[in-house]
Amino acid sequence: MRLILLGPPGAGKGTQAARLVDQYGIPQLSTGDMLRAAVAAGTPVGQKAKAVMDSGGLVSDEIVIGIIADRISEPDASKGFILDGFPRTVAQAVALDTMLRERGVSLNAVVELRVDQSKLVDRIMRRAAEAKAAGQPVRKDDDPEVFKTRLEAYNRDTAVVAPYYAKRGQLTVIDGMQPVDDVTAALAKALG
Ligand code: AMP
Repeated sequence: MRLILLGPPGAGKGTQAARLVDQYGIPQLSTGDMLRAAVAAGTPVGQKAKAVMDSGGLVSDEIVIGIIADRISEPDASKGFILDGFPRTVAQAVALDTMLRERGVSLNAVVELRVDQSKLVDRIMRRAAEAKAAGQPVRKDDDPEVFKTRLEAYNRDTAVVAPYYAKRGQLTVIDGMQPVDDVTAALAKALG
């Protein structure tokens, strides 16, 4: 199963991806997680990405495409993967097409979690409060001002990615405002 989860920040991509990992036994490839790990480790990629991520902007296509190309070549991704947070631009989607073609594989599904953007700030603030209460680190970009910039980046650069797949008849849209379990059920139905 090779799947892309699309949707703005706070749509629930990470939550649903984690559930699909258990269901299908394939890894969740989150470029956000990989970039945060690179920042924490102080790698050259992390050093380049840090300021952009802190401000809510998008890291360069070149960097994230490189990260994903390496990651999908790992043995655990050979049977499939769930892409969470990638592709975020049409250039990334085109690069992914090339990577998949070179490997002789194709996507099984592209799912957009469609949400009411006016409700997302509340959601993200809840996520930050829950992380804090659980003693987990709170993401620096889960802040109302930075979140606004992340949403702007989504609307400017990423909203066009879903139509890119829709044109090819590959897109399934799921109502991401439903309770979490209902979104999971809708996903299971869509993936057959
Ligand atoms: P996320 O965890 O998916 O919300 O990503 C956190 C941050 O990492 C984003 O706000 C971007 O700065 C950066 N990032 C993650 N994935 C990508 C991507 N595919 N393209 C560009 N920047 C990304």
